[in-house]
Amino acid sequence: MAEKHFDYVIVGGGLAGASAIVAIRERDRSGSILLAGSERHLPYDRPPLSKKLWFGKKKVEEIFLQPRDFYEKNGITLELGIKITGLDKERKTVSDERGNSYSFGKLLLATGGAPRTLGIPGGTLEPIYYYRYLDDYLKLRREAVEGSSALVIGGGFIGSEVAAALNINRVDVTMLFHGPYIVDRVFPGPLGRALQARYVEKGVKIITNDRPASIVWKDKRFITKTEKGNLIESDMVVIGAGITPSVELAVSAGLKVSNGIEVDGLLRTSHPDIYAAGDNAEFPYAALGMRMRVEHWDNAVKQGECAGRNMAGESARYDHMPYFFSDLFEFGYEAVGEVSSSLETFADWQKENEKGVVYYLKDNRVRGAMMCDVWDRVDEARRIIKEAKSFTTAGLKGLIR
Ligand SMILES: Cc1cc2nc3c(=O)[nH]c(=O)nc-3n(C[C@H](O)[C@H](O)[C@H](O)COP(=O)(O)OP(=O)(O)OC[C@H]3O[C@@H](n4cnc5c(N)ncnc54)[C@H](O)[C@@H]3O)c2cc1C
Repeated sequence: MAEKHFDYVIVGGGLAGASAIVAIRERDRSGSILLAGSERHLPYDRPPLSKKLWFGKKKVEEIFLQPRDFYEKNGITLELGIKITGLDKERKTVSDERGNSYSFGKLLLATGGAPRTLGIPGGTLEPIYYYRYLDDYLKLRREAVEGSSALVIGGGFIGSEVAAALNINRVDVTMLFHGPYIVDRVFPGPLGRALQARYVEKGVKIITNDRPASIVWKDKRFITKTEKGNLIESDMVVIGAGITPSVELAVSAGLKVSNGIEVDGLLRTSHPDIYAAGDNAEFPYAALGMRMRVEHWDNAVKQGECAGRNMAGESARYDHMPYFFSDLFEFGYEAVGEVSSSLETFADWQKENEKGVVYYLKDNRVRGAMMCDVWDRVDEARRIIKEAKSFTTAGLKGLIR
């Protein structure tokens, strides 16, 4: 088959890929662009899949990042529903599963991450949801009718959000996870436990400190057995067990890969014409003085933009401090920096476990902050983290309101 050439090839039609295209087009009106994505849909926003779409705050047709005619008007070639399976960095070509191959001037790997599957008997049964894609939402939404039951495995962001979404839609939800309380990698204990109590009040059953051991699918029902001997019957099983970054192309091409595809401050991989951005990229996080990979919306959007600018000839450094956000029932927050519950934390509550700021500290310096029901303070938190001043807890009181 003939090889087609594009000035820019974007692999992955998610947030990072779509943001890169906009940034490239703003700077290069005529360069040819190919977007190759394995999902059949135009690029869309992922956060509504576990939130607004379930609460009637958004319709499916409103989550697409650009309308179809944006791609037509901007001369962007779309190859959707097709996976790129080969990358030859010396010849600067990629090839897809159908045998088509494309040469590129600049390439962006915006392949994101894929759900981590459970390595237990029955862990990959077809009707199980490894929740990440629009197609998962569309299918689960049809199945999650009032009175049906769901086991949600995983107590991180996705598990907790999906459990709330299903509960609000009157599905009988059980959560199962190995931590002591929900989102335990981020929330300090008192906050996590208080939020978990709200889940229980709303009727969600919660099994903590336990893991699934096997899943059986029988008579259109799941029977999940846990390591501690619990047996849970449900109509649906939804799993949010985290993601693994999609780095296969980079690995096969011999690019540097560690916890993600390694990029420099300009988001270039170890090949100067190949960039990576979003959930798959491990980048130098200047403000925190460490290399990191971030699995959040703002990072994917801003890295996509930055990579796009640089692919089109600029030399923009990625020095953005990405923030993230989530809603769990009525509890909403924005967070920035290193928000790990393994750090020392100090909570400055205006209303206990509802409204206030949780600071994450290392050697008395603020590394991260989570603003709970406190809005539009992300820039202030960024400034405090960047300044890296030493604080006493008394000094943190009232710092962000
Ligand atoms: C349900 C859900 C809710 C979320 N909510 C929030 C939130 O509230 N706040 C927040 O900050 N973040 C949230 N996130 C995280 C955020 O959406 C991600 O960080 C972001 O989508 C990452 O964008 P990306 O472009 O790097 O990767 P992805 O969105 O994963 O997109 C990558 C795309 O590349 C495709 N692809 C992969 N490999 C290939 C290949 N070889 N060939 C072709 N195509 C390929 C994939 O199919 C996918 O379409 C949520 C994520 C999910 C799943």
